[in-house]
Amino acid sequence: MNQKTSPRIRRREFPPVMQGRTGYRNAVPYLRRDFDFRCAYCGIHEQMKGGPQAFCIDHFKPRSRGGPINDYTNLYWVCIPCNMIKHDRWPTSEQLRQGYRFADPCREQDVGVHFVESDDGLLQPLTTCGEYHVSTLRLNRAWLRQHRRDRTQKWARFNEAYQLREELERAVEARPVDDATPIMQRLLSFLSEEIEALRNELAIAIPMRQNF
Ligand SMILES: [Zn+2]
Repeated sequence: MNQKTSPRIRRREFPPVMQGRTGYRNAVPYLRRDFDFRCAYCGIHEQMKGGPQAFCIDHFKPRSRGGPINDYTNLYWVCIPCNMIKHDRWPTSEQLRQGYRFADPCREQDVGVHFVESDDGLLQPLTTCGEYHVSTLRLNRAWLRQHRRDRTQKWARFNEAYQLREELERAVEARPVDDATPIMQRLLSFLSEEIEALRNELAIAIPMRQNF
């Protein structure tokens, strides 16, 4: 499938019909799975914020702007900061005419299409939609930017450690066993532990969804 045209998030869950003023709250377990336990907008993982209590349901099109209350496709799983920042913001009809709107990760690809991430963790808009989206949701707030920068460095360390281990493995195999063998073996298992730790950290970091 073309990564540029298929949505970043694909819903697979089918929650029961929800009704009433707060019926949508029953969607929580379905949303958590569909959104891969991450914020739909900033990509932060629940585990980075202490669990699902740091998250809530966002109505993509706000209720105050006529967005449906209990329609599953209007419900997004988001971190509380993103929810508070977004609040009931929605482009005016004049802004919409000019292309200013939120990128909708459930209906389109946003990363690499509406904005890209630079090496220093900054999200740079590519379209008017990206401009509205990144600035309205404040996706370049200091904490997020720092996190993205750190995770890029972590990926570089992970790749380097992985390569080093492969080289060292080959070197150990190629030489006869001698006094240096035990220390090389210890180095190998040390590297393996470091790689595993980095892998676990990266699994809950904001994904590296780079420019396709
Ligand atoms: Zn968020």
